[in-house]
Amino acid sequence: MSSGLGGKVAIVTGAGSGIGLECAVALAREGACVACADLDGVAAERAAARLDGDSIGIQVDVTRDDDCARLVEETTSRLGGLDVLVTSAGIFHATPFDRITAEEWDRIQAVNLKGTFLTCQAALRVMVPNGRGRIVTIASLGGQTGGLAAGASYAASKAGVVALTKSIARYAGPHGVIVNTVNPGVIATPMTAAWPPEVAERVIAQTPLARMGTADEVAAVVCMLASDAASFVHGAHVDVNGGLLMD
Ligand code: NAP
Repeated sequence: MSSGLGGKVAIVTGAGSGIGLECAVALAREGACVACADLDGVAAERAAARLDGDSIGIQVDVTRDDDCARLVEETTSRLGGLDVLVTSAGIFHATPFDRITAEEWDRIQAVNLKGTFLTCQAALRVMVPNGRGRIVTIASLGGQTGGLAAGASYAASKAGVVALTKSIARYAGPHGVIVNTVNPGVIATPMTAAWPPEVAERVIAQTPLARMGTADEVAAVVCMLASDAASFVHGAHVDVNGGLLMD
């Protein structure tokens, strides 16, 4: 079965690194043209240069509504439309509960939760009038468990992403836009490379597949959800966690 992604235009936030980068690579491999968006403009350009075709890099701070609007405007004007949005931009903290500051709390909600809201809202301003589109948000196992390694600020932001994604699915589904979320478990990326080794070892020991996942294993599922194969999967969360949590 063809993925149906050939010739489509996709935005991937957080495309400068890790899971977002592999999502951009996977979508481009299926023939999509990708706007690689990242806080780090150089990393965004570098990601786009790795892809075949006319993909572009755009510097964006997903916490800013004007940046998210510009991302969508620039993508539609330079690439000719918008069919797929993947929201992978995110930050992580493992701060113990009693030491989380109000600043950390606000920043992590701003990037992970508000950033997802703003990018989805900007994309839907194009997708809804078009009567079609795909959105895949990236939440986390941490949002399901309260955090096996993550702190409360991160876990709460990602639980929020799951609820937000369901709300968007209820709003956008009648307009032909299919919306789902992916919950990665522990994935080897620059984000987890900063963990103390004993934390990674403890979580791997609880994982039936006995290893960390890879960013391309998450990207494969994201790509499937953006493809024609998932035409009746909507408002779902798909876990990519090696069996660490089965629900
Ligand atoms: P990563 O390698 O650190 O990639 C995250 C990317 O998001 C970075 O390029 C980062 O740019 C960018 N970013 C951060 N703040 C941004 C902002 N305000 N605006 C635009 N871009 C911003 O981490 P990853 O592991 O690939 O994580 C990707 C997503 O998966 C995140 O949402 C994360 O929470 C989620 N996730 C990861 C895991 C895991 O085990 N790795 C598990 C569950 C969920 P800078 O580098 O310039 O800050």
